[in-house]
Amino acid sequence: MNKLHAEVVVLGSGPGGYTAAFRAADLGKKTVLVERYNTLGGVCLNVGCIPSKAFLHVAKVISDAKEIETCGISFKAPAIDREKLRTWVETVLGKLTSGLNGLAKQRKVQIVTGYGQFTSSDTIEVVNDEEITHIKFDDAIIASGSHATKLPFLPDSPLIVDSTGALELKTIPKRMLVIGGGIIGLELATVYHELGSSITIVEMLDSLIAEADSDLVQPLMKRIRSQYENIHLNSRVESVKAQADSVDVEIETPKGKIVEKFDMVLVATGRSSNGKLIGADSAGVEVDENGFVKTDQHQRTNVPRIYAIGDITGQPMLAHKATHQGKVAAEVIAGIKSSFDTSIIPSVAYTDPEIAWVGLTEHEAKKTGFEYEKAIFPWGASGRALAMTRSEGITKLLFDPQTNRIIGAGITGVNAGELIAEATHAIEMGSDSMDIGLTIHPHPTLSETVGFATEIYEGTITDLYMPKTTKK
Ligand code: FAD
Repeated sequence: MNKLHAEVVVLGSGPGGYTAAFRAADLGKKTVLVERYNTLGGVCLNVGCIPSKAFLHVAKVISDAKEIETCGISFKAPAIDREKLRTWVETVLGKLTSGLNGLAKQRKVQIVTGYGQFTSSDTIEVVNDEEITHIKFDDAIIASGSHATKLPFLPDSPLIVDSTGALELKTIPKRMLVIGGGIIGLELATVYHELGSSITIVEMLDSLIAEADSDLVQPLMKRIRSQYENIHLNSRVESVKAQADSVDVEIETPKGKIVEKFDMVLVATGRSSNGKLIGADSAGVEVDENGFVKTDQHQRTNVPRIYAIGDITGQPMLAHKATHQGKVAAEVIAGIKSSFDTSIIPSVAYTDPEIAWVGLTEHEAKKTGFEYEKAIFPWGASGRALAMTRSEGITKLLFDPQTNRIIGAGITGVNAGELIAEATHAIEMGSDSMDIGLTIHPHPTLSETVGFATEIYEGTITDLYMPKTTKK
């Protein structure tokens, strides 16, 4: 048995874990990073954010090539070399994950490969085949993330995959069913649609991406309704029978039961925390019934000197939340006053069009009775959006009428994920409508739509005629 002492041990090397480990090392702590897989980076780098965005980039190029026909330019249908595409994505991932190894080495962060579990409130045991490493720690950060939720009634079949399986791109199925109309399911549907699959989506709720305001989702819905074979809302998969080369699926829809054959089924019904899989009991760390580890705003768990960050701490399960929490935990351990303000974390669906939102949503405001005023700029009046043939988007800002401060934003359209950063910064800075409206946005850009939406609220817009809303 190997024995180690760590001032800080981090369990899990996803975006939360590696960030925490690197920050702790930069703050002078002797740090050990435990990861069960041979590559660092967790879900995000290996089977999440990055591979999905690499494939989405390819999907966007294919889609743009089709779109440009409107402008009199036409290309032949794409020839897809699946193996080459996979190799390219793997190269991208390899660059990032090997980069993490380099960054760990530069900081002298020791990596222990193997499956780690707490054995007490100051020890973790890591098992790698026959080898066991016993780590005694001063402080520990749990960053063990989450895994795709399984539907218990689904049979084992290579034709039924989760997001990890879908990102392997083993085949491009003719007909693909996506169970779950959330962000991950829809992003992968975007990829497979552009690669040539015919897509059907089944969603239990009455809307896709239910956490976003419905007016933000509408432009996406309109576009994919015409692209996809079927989108069943308020529907559920009742039973699934896997054959050798197809899957029979019974779906209960508002119009009745249907039975369909698919060549592949993607299950994208959410992610579950790994909280119950790390020996938390042995350390006395409380894990709730959903597997989440509760923390305070300094990322402390109920056990002194044990912290938790990222997906394992609950929703939203997003990489940028994990990295920020990772820094907070490392800083608190190093004695720096640091805390995590969860009130605004931007969310992005990298669909086509993209949907991004941050801060208060209209949906939440209505539910909680929070007084707000909204301003929506339609991208149909944006020169840049029109010049890109993509004017279906909207930029919506919510303001506190008492202070004129921006309290929420939602953007749908090309590059919404990039554009939301300005609104996020504005909310963080406590900006009011004048701060944003008087900030000169470059013309012609999509970022102008944020300025224009503010001008609508201010009543100073000239790019639209809105006499009734003019305040000044
Ligand atoms: P994880 O990334 O889950 O990492 C946890 C690590 O801990 C893993 O490497 C795991 O192997 C390791 N581990 C777990 N238990 C043990 C153990 N007992 N011993 C040793 N090691 C262990 N988020 C975004 O913000 N933007 C996106 O665009 C985005 N796209 C996504 C697309 C897909 C398809 C998926 C599945 C997720 C996506 N996410 C995205 C979510 C994002 O990947 C997660 O929120 C993020 O990875 C969470 O980071 P984490 O550090 O908490 O944990």
